[in-house]
Amino acid sequence: MDFSQISLLLSIVVITFGTCSSNPKSSFCIEENLNSSSLIKDEIIRLANLPETVNWLKKIRREIHEYPELAFEEFKTSAVIRRELDEMGVKYRWPVAHTGVVATIGSGSPPFVALRADMDALPIQEMVEWEHKSNIDEKMHACGHDAHATMLLGAAKILQKFRNTLQGTAILIFQPAEERGVGAQKMIEEGALENVEAIFCIHTSTTHPTGVVASRRGEFLAGCGGFEAKITGKGGHAAIPQCTIDPILATATSIISLQNIVSREINPLDSQVVTVAKIEAGNAFNVMPDFAKITGSFRAFNKKSYNALRDRIKAEANPRFSRAWPQTQVIQTDVWQLFSYPSSLSYSLSGYVAQAAVNRCTAEVNFLEECPAIPPTVNDESVYEHMVHVSSEILGASNIRVSSSFMGSEDFAFFLEHVPGTIILIGARNDEAGHIHPAHSPYFTIDENVLPIGAAIHASFAHSYLMKLGESLH
Ligand SMILES: [Zn+2]
Ligand SMILES: [Zn+2]
Repeated sequence: MDFSQISLLLSIVVITFGTCSSNPKSSFCIEENLNSSSLIKDEIIRLANLPETVNWLKKIRREIHEYPELAFEEFKTSAVIRRELDEMGVKYRWPVAHTGVVATIGSGSPPFVALRADMDALPIQEMVEWEHKSNIDEKMHACGHDAHATMLLGAAKILQKFRNTLQGTAILIFQPAEERGVGAQKMIEEGALENVEAIFCIHTSTTHPTGVVASRRGEFLAGCGGFEAKITGKGGHAAIPQCTIDPILATATSIISLQNIVSREINPLDSQVVTVAKIEAGNAFNVMPDFAKITGSFRAFNKKSYNALRDRIKAEANPRFSRAWPQTQVIQTDVWQLFSYPSSLSYSLSGYVAQAAVNRCTAEVNFLEECPAIPPTVNDESVYEHMVHVSSEILGASNIRVSSSFMGSEDFAFFLEHVPGTIILIGARNDEAGHIHPAHSPYFTIDENVLPIGAAIHASFAHSYLMKLGESLH
């Protein structure tokens, strides 16, 4: 469905509402008339598509776009969000996780349903020449987080009109530092999910046209983590290797063994990735260095595979695994560790042994703090079904697509570790207008017609899910 179709639907809804809908600011009319979920949905669509709402959404999105801010520096963005919430009379808590905002709309009582948007930009120089281009060099909203924050503000504006009839409380989470993968966790630590029973999130996508949403039940986005290994030998003259312990050979065999994990040990139907992306060693052609370093990342779609992959690179998190199979770490195994667990003696030392040890080197493997481990994003079945229902009502069933799973990661996954929820991709592609470039491209743009659609889906999801939770209590 394109934007004109939504407008058509809107005009039908306006006719249905008659004289009351001619006064959109009248909350009295809303409360008097909205006694069926279908009417509520129609009114949400109408409010989202009012010309003044659409213009306001574009203005806010452009204001945020002009001043992109990186992780935990979203002070101006946060100020814009709070200014608009103040204007609406919506209560909020701030600061949460340095720059985050948690707004509350509704009864203030259970049930609680959360909607989440991220606010941070990327360290990218915008290459798009337009009136509202980034004013900050080397910073750009190239992942649509300006649109996400705006759509959630749009939902706030709509939900605020229903505040007296909401069957519980909507929690609106404006989160910092998604791109660094640390914002969601910090928000959770500071209580953003307190009492929340379900959570919903929207991410723009220029793979899908405007008017389409895509997601999938269960495993959707990969979990990812970064690792760094330092393999230490003994440096010396390249001409007399017998007097050295070669860390470069140990590193080379470690890299090959890491590739064996995915190609030889993993079910081919269970997609996983291990990539070594950086090698550092030596300074001269005739000098053996003391050590070499490799850096890389790993990804998997479900927690079991993700944890096994991490353990396989270096057994760390799972004591049972490490105790039973200490010899299975690819890069690093301390030989003493093999003998420290009597049960492991029964396993043959001639089997897998860490490549560093095989080559007489020692190794230290660390999982990178600057690339924190993000769990796989797994959509809850029931919340997913509800999202499909809500989105179908707004966009038509034919515009709800089942997305393929995707190797990218989202720190929304941290929220899903605590409460059931769903993330969806919302189409913002428009070929004719040139909105075709992928996220994280310096040429990334979005079709702003996505803004009222996202606001309506957010609001409709919160309103109807609260109703559903309320009904299940009775
Ligand atoms: Zn991104
Ligand atoms: Zn993003």
